[in-house]
Amino acid sequence: MANGEFGFIENIKTIFGTTEDIVGIGDDCAVIPMGENDLLVTTDMLIEGVHFLRSDATPEQVGYKSVAVNLSDIAAMGGRPIGTFLSIALPKDAQGEWAERFMEGFAEISRHYGVPLLGGDTTSSLRDVAVNVAVVGTCPHGGAILRSGARVGDTIFVTGPLGDSGAGLKLLLERAERTPDEDFLVGRHYSPTPRLSEGLALAATGLVGAMMDISDGIASDLGHILRASGVGARVALDALLTSEQLERVCGRKGWSAGELAASAGEDYELLLTAPEEITQMVDFPLYPIGRITEGGAEIEWYKGGQRCEFTTLGFTHF
Ligand code: ADP
Ligand code: MG
Repeated sequence: MANGEFGFIENIKTIFGTTEDIVGIGDDCAVIPMGENDLLVTTDMLIEGVHFLRSDATPEQVGYKSVAVNLSDIAAMGGRPIGTFLSIALPKDAQGEWAERFMEGFAEISRHYGVPLLGGDTTSSLRDVAVNVAVVGTCPHGGAILRSGARVGDTIFVTGPLGDSGAGLKLLLERAERTPDEDFLVGRHYSPTPRLSEGLALAATGLVGAMMDISDGIASDLGHILRASGVGARVALDALLTSEQLERVCGRKGWSAGELAASAGEDYELLLTAPEEITQMVDFPLYPIGRITEGGAEIEWYKGGQRCEFTTLGFTHF
């Protein structure tokens, strides 16, 4: 319910309005001032049949991903996670081994990032597994990087290759034997890496205008930054970095790696705007994909220096 979902959220926003000093609905996390530091809060849900198939994803993968996507929203603010809360609804046939293995995946990523589970809720469900994770985190007061800070002239960067997760999802749905390259892409779909250290380092430069994580695809997510900041953007499709595995699989399947990179979601790389010199202030690569421009919240897409248009059918030249 892509459009419906955003419409619903807009409606909730009008009912509750805004709260002074608090960043509420509309960014990757809520930002609540707490003296010297701000508290960051985010929550994300995974539903069986919608976000994963129990017949396909391992329970460990679902547990891992339920934490990863939430930590990614803390990373998107340039914050540090404090702890998680897990609410889970389990049907009878998932209450034994499935739930234990789910918790192994959940614990693995929690240990890796040093984020303890602090509470939650457990209930039964008639048929499907439902998982909701909330994460609280922190950043210095006023230090959270919002979606609304993009400045005209800023370069738009991403922290890594795009499209892997979207291709992984397509492959999952094919339910066919997979090559090692295809397994790699499916792995990127189920086990995304939250860019926590990158988010912290980027925020510490003091140069980032706007930042968010890429959960719905650049085409949709950059739109959020543009609307929140009241600016436009020019993006070079050829500049979107794609992995060699994605290129090889797309070559074999006749898929467009560029289109997947621009429009498929769930890569959980960071999307940010900053002056170009930021690349010299961090020790990991940032990939420039375009520039923030004056004007309406529209993305002008370019391919080989030529304007092209993005539609639901993909990219077409004017
Ligand atoms: P993200 O992809 O970063 O998790 P979403 O697209 O899920 O963000 O949500 C966008 C914004 O809308 C967030 O600030 C989120 O907290 C808010 N939001 C989403 N659903 C609801 C809801 N049911 N009630 C209140 N706020 C919501
Ligand atoms: Mg997000």
